Amino acid sequence: MNMITNHLPTAELQALDAAHHMHPFTDSNALAAKGARVITGAKGVHLRDSDGQEIMDCMAGLWCVNIGYGRDSIAEVARRQLLELPYYNTFFQTTHVPAIALAEKVTSLAPDHMNHVFFAAGGSDANDTNIRLVRHYWALKGKPEKQVIISRKNAYHGSTVGAASLGGMQAMHGQGTLPIPGVVHINQPHWYLEGGDMTPEEFGLQRARELEKKIAELGEDNVAAFIAEPIQGAGGVIIPPSTYWPEIQRICDAHEILLIADEVICGFGRTGNMWGSDTFSIRPDIMTIAKGLSSGYAPIGGSILSDEVFDVMATDEFYHGYTYSGHPMSCAVALENLRILEEENLIGNVRDVTAPYLAEKWAGLGEHPLVGEARICGLVGALQLTPDKASRAAFAEGPGNVGVIARDLCFEDNFIMRHVGDQLIISPPLIFSKENIDTLAEKAWKVLDKTMASATEKGLM
Ligand code: PMP
Repeated sequence: MNMITNHLPTAELQALDAAHHMHPFTDSNALAAKGARVITGAKGVHLRDSDGQEIMDCMAGLWCVNIGYGRDSIAEVARRQLLELPYYNTFFQTTHVPAIALAEKVTSLAPDHMNHVFFAAGGSDANDTNIRLVRHYWALKGKPEKQVIISRKNAYHGSTVGAASLGGMQAMHGQGTLPIPGVVHINQPHWYLEGGDMTPEEFGLQRARELEKKIAELGEDNVAAFIAEPIQGAGGVIIPPSTYWPEIQRICDAHEILLIADEVICGFGRTGNMWGSDTFSIRPDIMTIAKGLSSGYAPIGGSILSDEVFDVMATDEFYHGYTYSGHPMSCAVALENLRILEEENLIGNVRDVTAPYLAEKWAGLGEHPLVGEARICGLVGALQLTPDKASRAAFAEGPGNVGVIARDLCFEDNFIMRHVGDQLIISPPLIFSKENIDTLAEKAWKVLDKTMASATEKGLM
């Protein structure tokens, strides 16, 4: 057989892919019939495919390539680290310089009361760490019955057994007998879809108070933690009403419940501040990190712990760790990524320049007859599609059909937005320029026009 390289014809690569590669979150037979788009390279905010097309990536890969593609210095750092020390573990009383340096750096960026990090290889396994960690924390505090973790419906916390249990995705729970015992879910603060006649503020309070009700129902002495994304990402970029987080914080404080902020998407600048927790004034006990930590250049994640949590955990050995906890190359890459983030003032630029500009353009897209709500925070946003703005109506024949039409039209026009149900979402690299935003807004408006025409023709609205 020929060597498999970029030089093979697309159809051949697609056939090989279909023959041997099972994709995540994919209907394999449907993909095999259609053929996967083969991505061969990337630079800045653009991908290149095997047909030579240039594609604008308004999702930063999977919400992660914050510094953009094609950074030479990261490749250089990775190369140097692989030559110097490609691997060693941090079990058994050893450490290495990349892990020391990254732990110091990450905790210097974290809120003042958080000074330790436990490394994982991504967000899912970091959340698995959190499950075991909070339960053991309470055992060490003499309250071993505090075991239950409360999460939210339609949350996403990862795909491992533990993380998918924390998540509130029904379709995922339907496969593999999830959730595991001791994880329960309350309703999400999605005002547009579920707020009815309430104002967003009333609804935010009501949904936050479901946490207090759930704690009362389970008994405070049985609840270990509450976990939530500051903004739900994969659930559809759900930006909670302003009343939501302050009330959640009050409830966690009042009932001695650990608060885990899953910062896997929001962390490292996505919302225009270092942390989503800064944007929403959350004071977490634990933060889950991944994605923007390395901008996707190497797999790495982790859990940042408050001093209170760490001090208790430090009184015992935690029988937990991953072969790749603090992988030297991933740590070195993450450090270089954070250096770039700071040196180029990417977060300040998002906060002061591109986020306000995007917000303006996004509000413009909100004027389109197909858009019921245009949500945006920093560089993460959603367009909620509807056949009728006034009533916030859903489309005929269930959610998702119109979203798929719109997503496919974006893809055909060589720019990537993702759909969640009938929501179109974006999370572009933090280097996204005003010019990129203009292009996105122009293309998105045309896609909305075409989507409306297609949905009308198909009788979906
Ligand atoms: N938490 C959140 C909020 C996420 O968005 C994701 C990934 N999309 C994860 C956890 C899981 O991270 P990973 O895919 O790196 O395991």
